[in-house]
Amino acid sequence: MTLSDPADQAPLICSSKGCDAPAQHALLWNNPKIHTPDRRKTWLACDEHEPTLRQFLSARGFWKETQPLPADG
Ligand SMILES: [Zn+2]
Repeated sequence: MTLSDPADQAPLICSSKGCDAPAQHALLWNNPKIHTPDRRKTWLACDEHEPTLRQFLSARGFWKETQPLPADG
């Protein structure tokens, strides 16, 4: 097989507004009002914005966990 999955080639960019830095973290979150308990939404974050996004989600009770992203870019 030589076909490649486009998702493998999509650049992982920080989800923070206006930031185009490479993402180094994936924040997994869930809004219990609109998501089933096992659903996970993902935000990508660079090193600088991971704490900011985590704080935003935590304040609303949405944050579940932050996972490191592979650093192979
Ligand atoms: Zn960022």
